[in-house]
Amino acid sequence: MNFELTEEQLSIKNAVKEFCKKEFQPELALELDKKEEFPLKLYKKAAKLGFTSLFFPQEYGGQGFGLIETCLAIEEMCRSDSSLGVAISVGPFGSEFIVEFGTKAQKEKYLPSICKGDYISAAAFTEPNVSGSDITRMETTATKYGDEWWINGTKTFISNAPIADFVVVLTQTDTKVRPTYRGETLFVVDKDTPGLETTKLHNKMGIRCSVTGEIHFDNVKVTDLQIVGELNRGFYHSMEFFDKTRVGVAAQAVGMAQGAWEIAFKYSKEREAFGQPILQHELIGCGLAEAITKIEAARWLTYRAAWLIDEGKMDPMITAMAKQYASKVAVETTDFAIQTLGAYGYLAEYRVEKFHRDAKITEIYEGTSEIQKLTVLKYLLRKF
Ligand SMILES: Cc1cc2nc3c(=O)[nH]c(=O)nc-3n(C[C@H](O)[C@H](O)[C@H](O)COP(=O)(O)OP(=O)(O)OC[C@H]3O[C@@H](n4cnc5c(N)ncnc54)[C@H](O)[C@@H]3O)c2cc1C
Repeated sequence: MNFELTEEQLSIKNAVKEFCKKEFQPELALELDKKEEFPLKLYKKAAKLGFTSLFFPQEYGGQGFGLIETCLAIEEMCRSDSSLGVAISVGPFGSEFIVEFGTKAQKEKYLPSICKGDYISAAAFTEPNVSGSDITRMETTATKYGDEWWINGTKTFISNAPIADFVVVLTQTDTKVRPTYRGETLFVVDKDTPGLETTKLHNKMGIRCSVTGEIHFDNVKVTDLQIVGELNRGFYHSMEFFDKTRVGVAAQAVGMAQGAWEIAFKYSKEREAFGQPILQHELIGCGLAEAITKIEAARWLTYRAAWLIDEGKMDPMITAMAKQYASKVAVETTDFAIQTLGAYGYLAEYRVEKFHRDAKITEIYEGTSEIQKLTVLKYLLRKF
C-alpha cells in the first residue's frame, strides 16, 4: 500500500495549481458567474496545457494518464474556483463514451479536437418527464427508416448543450422489448445536424459558468455509423460511463470543500471576537478541524475509486461511496465556511457563498445521493 502521489502526479497537481493561481482571477470568476458565461478562453488555455485531456489516449492528442491524474486536476481547479473549475473540467463531458466505445472513425473525428480544446461535447440522458434518476426508459426515440435513424424527443438539463459541438444522446431504439433498458442506444450527433436545436437554461443556483440547456430533436437523421457502442446496449454503456465519471464529481466536491475550508481557516485566524481570533473559540476551531478531517477522508475515498478504475478493477460501490460522501462533505463544509465568516460569508466577494451554491450540484447530477446510497446497498446485498 502506498499513500503517496508519484513525482509525475505531484507535478501535474502543481502545474494545475499554478495555472489556476494565474488565470482564475476572482473578479473574472464573479463576473462570468453573474453573466452565466462559459470561460471559453480559459478552457482553451487549459486544453493547450493538456489539463482537460489527461486520460485521453495519446494517439488522439491526449496525455495518456489515468483517472487519478484527472481527479487531481479537477480537484485543483475546483479548489481555486468551483464554478470555473467545473465548467472547464466538464468541457469534454460525453467524450468518454467515444474513448471507451467509439469506432476508430468516431475517435479520429472527435477526439483530436476535444483534446486541443477546439471542441466541447455533451452527454444527454435526462428528459423533462420521467428520465432523470431513472434512465431505464427513454421518451426520445430513434426509429429506423431504410438506412437512416430518425431521432425525436427532448433532453433537458444538459451540461454544455448550448455550446457543444457534438452530443452523445441516449435514445430508445426498441420500444417493445422488456425490460425497456434493453432497447436503448447511444448516438453521436453533430450540433449542426438539421432538426437539432438547443436552448439555454437560466438562473441556476450554482455552477453558473457551466452552461446548461435543452436539446430538441425533430426528425434528426443519423446513420448506423453514428451509433456509439452496440445497438441496444446504450443503457449498459451509460452505467459504465457513470461509474467512472462520478469519481470526477467526487473530485469536484473535494476541491470545492478544500477551497472553502482554506478561506474559512485563514479568516478564522485573522478575525477577532471576545478578545481572541475566532479560531481559538472551540466551536469554530474544532468545527474546522472536523471539516478538514472529513475532506481528507473524502479525498482518499475518491482517489481509491479512481485508482481501482485505473487498475482495471472498477468497483461501482466504491465509486458511489466516493460521490455520495464527498458531495455531502462539500455541502457541509461550504456551509460551515459561510458560518465561520459570519455576515462577510454572505457576501459574494468573500467567495464562500459561491462555493456553497456550487457544491450543491454534486449531490444532484450524475446520480443523486439517494441513488448512490441505493447503489451501495445493492452491492452490499450482493456481497453479503
Ligand atoms: C446543473 C445540472 C447539470 C446537469 N447535467 C446533465 C447532463 O449533462 N446530462 C444529463 O443527462 N443530465 C444532466 N443533469 C440532470 C441530472 O443528472 C438529474 O437532475 C439527476 O440525475 C436527477 O434527476 P431528476 O432531476 O429528474 O430527479 P428525480 O429522478 O425526479 O428525483 C427527484 C428526487 O427523488 C429522489 N429519488 C428518485 N428515485 C429514487 C429512489 N429510487 N429512491 C429514493 N429516492 C429517489 C432523487 O434522489 C431526488 O431527490 C444535470 C442537472 C443539473 C441541475
